[in-house]
Amino acid sequence: MVMKDCPLCNLEKNLIIYKDDIVTVCETKNKKGHKRRIMVVYNKHSDKVPGWVEDWAIRVLEKIGKEVFNYTYKFVILSPRFGSVPQHWHLVATDLDPNCEDFEQILGTPWLKVVDVRYFKKK
Ligand SMILES: [Zn+2]
Repeated sequence: MVMKDCPLCNLEKNLIIYKDDIVTVCETKNKKGHKRRIMVVYNKHSDKVPGWVEDWAIRVLEKIGKEVFNYTYKFVILSPRFGSVPQHWHLVATDLDPNCEDFEQILGTPWLKVVDVRYFKKK
């Protein structure tokens, strides 16, 4: 089901990084000062997903995030509770740049997962 007025049902094609039958990964429109900021979106318009979809979405976001965030040490997957489009399930992954405009909000949001991109930074 596609909702006309839902931004997550109508993702801009040039922002899409990955798509399968269940989820789509794309750049967020508003980067909030981050170099990269991505999200995984359920392909159906729904505010909830079954557990296996959440598991799959996290796995996909983790895999793609490791490439997208290869400029930093780690990234976090934020709890969906505070998403900007609560009617359409999605998860945001972000780096931990303290200079970005939503850093306070990131620290105040529960993290579903912290993903290490690399353990030792190359010199
Ligand atoms: Zn939608």
